[in-house]
Amino acid sequence: MPPQRPGRRPAWRLALPLLLAAAGASAGPITVPDIVAELSASDYRGYVEDLVGFGTRWYATDGNAAATDYVRDTLVGFGLDTREHRFDYGGVTLANVEATLPGLVRPDDIFILGAHFDSIASRSPGKPSANDAPGADDNASGTAGMLEIASVLSRYRFEATIRFIGFNAEEQGMKGSEAYAEDAWSAGERILGMVNLDMIGRTDGTAAEDIEVIGDADLVALLVANITAFTSLPVSGHVETPLWSDHQWFAAGEYPGSESVMLIEDELWELWSTNLDYHKTSDTADKLDYGFALEVSRGAAAAMIDLAGLAGFAGVPVPVPAVWLLLLPGLLLMARDGRCRARRA
Ligand SMILES: [Zn+2]
Repeated sequence: MPPQRPGRRPAWRLALPLLLAAAGASAGPITVPDIVAELSASDYRGYVEDLVGFGTRWYATDGNAAATDYVRDTLVGFGLDTREHRFDYGGVTLANVEATLPGLVRPDDIFILGAHFDSIASRSPGKPSANDAPGADDNASGTAGMLEIASVLSRYRFEATIRFIGFNAEEQGMKGSEAYAEDAWSAGERILGMVNLDMIGRTDGTAAEDIEVIGDADLVALLVANITAFTSLPVSGHVETPLWSDHQWFAAGEYPGSESVMLIEDELWELWSTNLDYHKTSDTADKLDYGFALEVSRGAAAAMIDLAGLAGFAGVPVPVPAVWLLLLPGLLLMARDGRCRARRA
């Protein structure tokens, strides 16, 4: 067999050592604490302030349309495959915004991280159509968490698919998420879980403030475990039929095969006394506890990583053994092909 001339080596012979080196170099360093530490306090606060800056985001207003565009453009900016899911309600066509991070191993298994971006000030005097509803806590706080988690997780790849969704018209009776779940079910989509961020920004200012996790049993346990492991927050889990926010339509009893859970600063019966600005024009950005909200977001990010299964960096080969096993036959074929071509030469 004649020696191969330098500079004419098959591409795989150059690529393979690089692939293996990259895998070896990256297998150790990727940890959940490292990833959740990438969530940025200043980015999070920026999203809240931008959303509040649109004025009311009540469903039939220009502010709602501006917020829809903003959520879409922000997710597009992370390089995510993003679309508007349109639906009709109250005589207008509205849109949820959906961004997809496709799974490398189980792309048909879908986990949703959702938050509604519309707002309402129905508890202040005047009509919701005319009232300014900054909705800083309800729910710029959750939408900002969803966006910041999407920003960070879009730098990685996962075994299952993650969808980041901004839901519209939640304050009208979860209309956007209802339309979304109906269409997803009709399309046969295998949604296995939904984590909902709704009001994660208000506390009483003490370190003892806990985050409530409310919903289906397995997801409550998973969220409590991740929040306990990867954040400094006290956490309370409540296994209850998911109700009163977007996660309702993805609950075990509503979407067979799925479970859902909501993260919220207080249980609903507490909110009436702990958040006096709830659904009022006074729900402003200066009243949020940004440190708390970021910790909640970190816990939710860890849970999404746990659910979808980490499979590597964006643009870099996968360091997870299971995925290397999938790639191995192809690498062996390339190696055999290379030997054959070398022999023919
Ligand atoms: Zn809400």
